[in-house]
Amino acid sequence: MMTVKENLEAILKEIPSNIRLVVVSKMQPLKCIREVYAAGQRSFGENRVQDLIAKQPFLPQDIEWHFIGHLQTNKVKFIAPFIKVIQSIDSLRLLQEIDKEALRNSRIINCLLQLFVATEETKFGLGLDEARNLLASGEIKALKNIRIIGVMGMATNTDDDTLINKEFSMIKNHFDILSQEFFKDDTFFRQISMGMSGDYRLAIKQGSTMVRIGNAIFK
Ligand SMILES: *Cc1c(COP(=O)(O)O)cnc(C)c1O
Repeated sequence: MMTVKENLEAILKEIPSNIRLVVVSKMQPLKCIREVYAAGQRSFGENRVQDLIAKQPFLPQDIEWHFIGHLQTNKVKFIAPFIKVIQSIDSLRLLQEIDKEALRNSRIINCLLQLFVATEETKFGLGLDEARNLLASGEIKALKNIRIIGVMGMATNTDDDTLINKEFSMIKNHFDILSQEFFKDDTFFRQISMGMSGDYRLAIKQGSTMVRIGNAIFK
């Protein structure tokens, strides 16, 4: 049996130091999260608002929390006081709500546009043209308390490395296009969040800057 700390160390050896690791702690008890924190990790990801707000008060306050699941507008207010990055932006309406709640908390909240490239129909996210429309809309310029720092995406859950590579390279390609078209003089739009336990090695080869890993650490 490997410990959580040993799993973490094995993964860290494979991730270049310029790539950020978000430890996905969904479904994990506080005890296991504290072990990973004690091993030096400070970025953690959760995909359900209820779980996140149940855990956050009992964990060290210097944790940078990433929200990685589908986010309903009526729940933004519960995480706005502390959330560092919301990785799952899929509409202008959601961004407007985050901006409103960030302002109320005198904060700026970092956001990633969730891009949809996988063949699975159940996945949330924006197609390239939807992302373009969102960024081109005049309304987005009025949002002063959000900062769009990049994109997030998932590949299809499959053993087919060719398909996974194709999907990750699409995410990278869409990032490059959006960067060219909308963020030319911007220093914040830099992050490509892709790669999970089963596919982070492929994601890194395709240009990921941030991996989100749960099972491979907590198994
Ligand atoms: C659960 C989840 C992960 C982590 O998946 P693992 O297979 O446990 O590494 C990453 N990203 C999102 C959006 C998730 O929901």
